[in-house]
Amino acid sequence: MRYRSTRGEAQALDFEGVLLAGLAGDGGLYLPEHWPSFDREAQTRLPSRSYTELAQALFEPFVGNTILPADLAVMLDEAYAVFDDPDVAPMREIEPGLHVMELFHGPTLAFKDVALQLVGRLFDHVLAKRRKRITIVGATSGDTGSAAIEACRDREAIDIFILHPKGRVSEVQRRQMTTVKSVNVHNIAIEGSFDDCQDLVKAMFNDRAFRAEMSLSAVNSINWARIMAQIVYYARGALMLSREGGSVDFAVPTGNFGNVYAGYAAKRMGFPIGRLIVASNRNDILTRFFESGTMAAETVVPTLSPSMDIQVSSNFERLLYDLCDGDGAKVARLIAEFRKTGRFSVEPAQLAQARAIFDSVRIDDEGTKAEMARLYRDSGMLVDPHSAIGIAAGRAHKTKDGTPVIALATAHPAKFPDAVEAATGVRPALPHRLADLLQREERLTVLPNDLTAIEAHVRAHRRAGEAA
Ligand SMILES: *Cc1c(COP(=O)(O)O)cnc(C)c1O
Repeated sequence: MRYRSTRGEAQALDFEGVLLAGLAGDGGLYLPEHWPSFDREAQTRLPSRSYTELAQALFEPFVGNTILPADLAVMLDEAYAVFDDPDVAPMREIEPGLHVMELFHGPTLAFKDVALQLVGRLFDHVLAKRRKRITIVGATSGDTGSAAIEACRDREAIDIFILHPKGRVSEVQRRQMTTVKSVNVHNIAIEGSFDDCQDLVKAMFNDRAFRAEMSLSAVNSINWARIMAQIVYYARGALMLSREGGSVDFAVPTGNFGNVYAGYAAKRMGFPIGRLIVASNRNDILTRFFESGTMAAETVVPTLSPSMDIQVSSNFERLLYDLCDGDGAKVARLIAEFRKTGRFSVEPAQLAQARAIFDSVRIDDEGTKAEMARLYRDSGMLVDPHSAIGIAAGRAHKTKDGTPVIALATAHPAKFPDAVEAATGVRPALPHRLADLLQREERLTVLPNDLTAIEAHVRAHRRAGEAA
């Protein structure tokens, strides 16, 4: 399998190439040159019960001959053995026809673990083969840092440095990062804001000499391998719940459009998926797009669901590529217009094409709290604000024709205890393995908002030399 850029200029690469590159050289995102196809007959032969066996079967056409099947099997087993639930993505029906799929049983209690636990291992494997090492640097406002750290901890070929604003992330979020005891994990508390942290990371990448010397890299949400890893639970849910000749719909709490795009990919591959419901909070750039055909950025407002507080959904470019019939120059023009003016519009026919598959629902903080309270009152179930948005959207969408709806639950309630307690009166407990989180020893370095100091710290603490 070869991958090409959504902007049509960059060189096509194989799986290993796109894994390591992340972003394409022309600024675009990588996509497979064609979608592997699984028709009904092929689907009946898939091992849909075992998460890792299904993943293996789905990944083989994407990975091609870049990774040996036996190596891939080991990585899959290891990645998903760290999940609390052997099912990885267990489902339960909360009312007739409305199912919740729990994607938060990984180490950091959010759905990003599903992809990152595998991607960290894929990176390590490919780097070892190439006898290379990388240094990952990233900034976090609290939420994504721990998923990246858990993905990279103990990986031989990777050192990871995560910057967070000192005193401005919640204690649970900080401790999920700073209590990881691996030698290759480095937490830096910056005396500054989250924006300062982001600026420092950008400045490190822009310092060409430093970037080359450290082999700087990122595992960001546009990496193709993250999308690929997320296709599995859509295929699995569809295979498990679709009835003869029918399909299932998915409701997806959405920020960067990465998760719901994986659902689109599963549909393109032939799995019985009907509609994809894009659920947003008040930061509703996507809802407005699906209503009007115009993508127009506004300022981000903070909500109860911070992981969806986004005004630019970077993975949307992958869908835009299909709406532009694979015309990379057209995609590049629209994205450039968006960069310059904060908006772009598609033609009515393109909007109709998108609306043939996607619905969109906006749930504000009041609606989020109401859904959390309702679920607790009706079934004793505690859900986090992101998951509540997905479930409320799924409920609003449920059709009379009996098509099952699967709402994706993207975070564990204990990840957002204050919001859950405010809505339900109950403070959710951390899962057993994290119960002593508040007693564990922390490791972090406090540094000033100063590029020279940070670069010196990274240089001094990364493990030098070639990978063995
Ligand atoms: C990242 C995240 C989302 C949004 O997913 P995208 O792939 O960015 O659309 C939703 N919920 C939670 C809890 C997240 O961490």
